[in-house]
Amino acid sequence: MQDYDFAVIGAGIAGASAAYELQSRGRTLLLEQEPLPGHHTTGRSAAFSFESYGNRVVRLLTHAARPFLEDSPEGFAQHPLAQRCSVLWIARSEQVQRLVEHAKRVTADGVNLSEVSTAEALLMCPVLREDQIALGVVEERALHIDVAGLLEAYLAGFRARGGNLTTRAGVTGLRSTGGTWEVCAGDTHYRARVIVNAAGAWADEIGALAGAQPIGLAPLRRTAITFEPPAGATIAQWPCVVDADEAFYLKPEGAQLLASPCDETPFPPCDITPDELDIAVAVDRVMRATTLEIRHVQHSWAGLRSFVADRVPVIGMDPEVSGFFWLAGQGGVGIMTAPSAARAATSLIADGALPEDLKTLGITPEMLAPSRLALRSEATGA
Ligand SMILES: Cc1cc2nc3c(=O)[nH]c(=O)nc-3n(C[C@H](O)[C@H](O)[C@H](O)COP(=O)(O)OP(=O)(O)OC[C@H]3O[C@@H](n4cnc5c(N)ncnc54)[C@H](O)[C@@H]3O)c2cc1C
Repeated sequence: MQDYDFAVIGAGIAGASAAYELQSRGRTLLLEQEPLPGHHTTGRSAAFSFESYGNRVVRLLTHAARPFLEDSPEGFAQHPLAQRCSVLWIARSEQVQRLVEHAKRVTADGVNLSEVSTAEALLMCPVLREDQIALGVVEERALHIDVAGLLEAYLAGFRARGGNLTTRAGVTGLRSTGGTWEVCAGDTHYRARVIVNAAGAWADEIGALAGAQPIGLAPLRRTAITFEPPAGATIAQWPCVVDADEAFYLKPEGAQLLASPCDETPFPPCDITPDELDIAVAVDRVMRATTLEIRHVQHSWAGLRSFVADRVPVIGMDPEVSGFFWLAGQGGVGIMTAPSAARAATSLIADGALPEDLKTLGITPEMLAPSRLALRSEATGA
């Protein structure tokens, strides 16, 4: 039986980034049930990072991840992993108040946003319908992330540091005796001091194998489509356009346009596929807000975004099951927060404290911990 300090379950972006960081603190094993890492939610994202998205803790984690994405360590990747882009939030007249309030909360945390008029919004994205925008709010310093490149760089760095990635290794059993875990993946058994549960939509199932209480994880399906831009349009400089109530978003994706109806349909963990109705809703919402004619959807897919009750990622040691660490509930921000979440996990496991930069931002272990009250009461129905 092979012995490790840390066994990470799941080689999506969460597990890959955590394994990369942990390998510098001890022998690390990364187990993935699929033949290819990134097959589930990580391989299905819209690949952007912006600091005006999500709740405060999420925004701080996104902020802390930014330096790694924009300026990754020497030798980490062969090419830049992030490209600057802008985000344009749009509000119809009845949405203006909500957008203004959201912008106030975000700017209070130091993020630079500027209000733009309808005419200015149309200059940024000429296909928007004038009567659909009463106010625009722009975040200039958003990022488009090369997700496949980021995942591959983490895995290559992990291996170069001596880490062991094993695919087609679905974890089927976890048993703890005398401070050591035995991990069963089919007929193969491993030993590790600490288990890191980075199993995405399956995280509560892995928790159950370890005898932990559920964190109340809800996997929600989200759909995306791509389609041809209008002939002759130069879309590269278009912003990512996000509806103030997140009813849809639209962004350039290479030579195509990408859109999502921002659906959130609960599903058990599985290899999820899109529903025709959600694809039709995406087309309809984009055509209502813009002058785009979508005659043919080039490509459509769906992924499970998994949330806990407060929509803050769960990063911390289980309060009752010793040596069982949660890295789950990344919802719609698992790519943009991966570098800071992985560092947070590693420091909490190895040093019992968060990295200094996260502390300085005001993030505390309690904000991320699985023991926070709302999660357990939600999961148990209390
Ligand atoms: C349409 C869409 C758009 C999105 N857009 C963005 C975006 O723009 N920016 C952003 O930051 N985020 C975005 N997200 C969210 C982001 O993709 C997720 O938060 C992130 O990928 C979650 O990563 P993960 O590693 O936790 O999960 P996953 O990638 O699902 O990885 C979990 C892994 O665990 C493995 N696993 C499960 N059970 C076992 C087991 N028993 N044994 C071994 N392995 C196991 C699975 O096979 C899987 O590979 C989007 C998501 C969707 C669906």
